[in-house]
Amino acid sequence: MTSKGIAILGATGSIGVSTLDVLARHPERFHVVALTANHNVERLYAQCLKFQPRYAVMVDAAAAETLAKRLRAAGSEVVVLAGTAALETVASCPEADYVMAAIVGAAGLVPTLAAARAGKRVMLANKEALVMSGQLFIDAVHEHGAELLPIDSEHNAVFQCLPADGKNGVEKILLTASGGPFRSWAASDLVGVTPEQAVAHPNWSMGQKISVDSATLMNKGLEVIEACWLFGLPAERVEVVVHPQSTIHSMVSYNDGSVLAQLGNPDMRTPIAYALGWPERLVSGVAPLDLFATARLDFERPDVGRFPCLPLAYEAHGRGGYATIALNAANEEAVKAFLGREIGFTDIPLLVREVMRQASAGTPMTLDDILVQDEESRARSLFWIKNKKIH
Ligand code: NAD
Ligand code: MG
Repeated sequence: MTSKGIAILGATGSIGVSTLDVLARHPERFHVVALTANHNVERLYAQCLKFQPRYAVMVDAAAAETLAKRLRAAGSEVVVLAGTAALETVASCPEADYVMAAIVGAAGLVPTLAAARAGKRVMLANKEALVMSGQLFIDAVHEHGAELLPIDSEHNAVFQCLPADGKNGVEKILLTASGGPFRSWAASDLVGVTPEQAVAHPNWSMGQKISVDSATLMNKGLEVIEACWLFGLPAERVEVVVHPQSTIHSMVSYNDGSVLAQLGNPDMRTPIAYALGWPERLVSGVAPLDLFATARLDFERPDVGRFPCLPLAYEAHGRGGYATIALNAANEEAVKAFLGREIGFTDIPLLVREVMRQASAGTPMTLDDILVQDEESRARSLFWIKNKKIH
């Protein structure tokens, strides 16, 4: 077996670290070609020493310089590159067979698309990239013979439960949602939610942005759109089921009455190992599920009144690509402002609704159109935030 070269975009984040944990268990099958980060020098330095990639990328130029100096002093031969263009370079470099797309938010779109256009196995954690680019991304995967494997636990579960042709007898996808930390809170209490409360997820340990998205249910909304693109289904056939234990990661409902589910402990190393090994299975380090300790599996409908971000995502997908880009951009800016204590938790859906509904109908045809819509929506969001603060 030839060793596969792996590039990890967003190596220092929650998914990046879990990916390296799985890779370290299979040194004979994989070698690390590139690691990238925004500005966390300390962590990327330690990862470079341990995994000795060919390339390390830091988006921040000063951070890249510091990293390069420290690596040279340690006698390492890692080539350090700086800037966003370098992300594209490593995502499409010939040494990389597989690319883990684990940058958070819109910043991941361009390099993830570059990986697809270079015909890589794209392991997609960065759901925002697919929400923004939709058909354009799926077309790039097909045109360039790339493989698209979902890392998001729900989509990875669905992928595991689908039939070989992806279609035969499939009625519906049932995406499970934990409901987040405020599942049982009264609507009136949500107004005073603090960033600390919002990032404390009951079942999963994740980056800050996705933790807030899980608390608003925007994460599930983005995942509905992601599922539509990944599995080629209309949104009416993607249903959200709140399941507080996060033991069932998602399900596929068939026309003969069967429902197939994938279960496991909530640990991202399972979907990561599945995508790395597919079609084989690899040891991931995740403990086997103890059903006796789990004891119960509960299900409820999402409360779209208390969590309006979920219906807003369905609405955006119905309106078209410009609206989903606006939804994503407004949400990113809203989450940033909420974490910075500039706006409240319940302002997030208000801002997203306003900016999403201002987007024009239809779907952009090029990457440039997508990026322009993203930028305009962010400007509108910042304007909304500024006015909110004045009043
Ligand atoms: P994180 O915040 O822990 O890590 C983000 C990574 O992206 C870091 O390495 C950071 O350096 C890099 N990054 C941030 N901004 C950047 C920029 N502007 N340019 C280049 N690099 C940048 O995030 P995470 O929780 O690992 O999530 C990563 C992606 O995976 C997100 O899209 C998230 O929705 C998705 N995802 C995460 C989980 C999870 O369990 N953490 C589960 C499912 C999906
Ligand atoms: Mg998920």
